[in-house]
Amino acid sequence: MKEQRIKSIYYKLISMGCDIYIGENNNEFFAVKHGCVECKSPWYMNLTECFFCGMTNSYLYHCANCDTYSSTTGGPATCRTCREKRKKICFNDNCITNKSKFVEEFNRLKNGVMDKNSPSTTSQSHCIECGCSNNLYYTSFICLREVKENEKINVLNNDFKKYDVLIFVKTNTKKYLIINKKFNKNENNNFKNEIEISKIFF
Ligand SMILES: [Zn+2]
Ligand SMILES: [Zn+2]
Ligand SMILES: [Zn+2]
Repeated sequence: MKEQRIKSIYYKLISMGCDIYIGENNNEFFAVKHGCVECKSPWYMNLTECFFCGMTNSYLYHCANCDTYSSTTGGPATCRTCREKRKKICFNDNCITNKSKFVEEFNRLKNGVMDKNSPSTTSQSHCIECGCSNNLYYTSFICLREVKENEKINVLNNDFKKYDVLIFVKTNTKKYLIINKKFNKNENNNFKNEIEISKIFF
């Protein structure tokens, strides 16, 4: 299997939120994914939430003077319109940190409550998709195998003593067939255009 093809599969998995640990052979590797226990959607360690209400960080600046939001990427920390210092406030209007009595005090330090250096943000504690509070690191030992256009795929009983998942790819097409330990013979030849992540972590 061509090096480039193998790498493109690594990158594809990485773009889907996996970390890849390559073994002795390039076509054998561990994929690790940090995800929600319930729905397996990705869990972001660098995603922060408001400590007070659990609101996900919007990564936006707010100008209290003009009541406008603006991007935190690039640009000065001051409002373009009024030159007031912009703050990273909590996006939830009902959060205690936005109540008129407290808003100034809570957002006084650093760049506001949602600033990464603020003591009032925590890393993600709830799934963004389903709200579940439990997360896990899922791992899967994967073997990549290339098959020719009309070649039948061949799964040996021993394969699943070593691997959790086999990914078959066709030589000249970008199609994948994923077979895991819960292997279903009827699904055998359904090559798909996408890598189904639910078949890799099952
Ligand atoms: Zn909040
Ligand atoms: Zn302003
Ligand atoms: Zn979830």
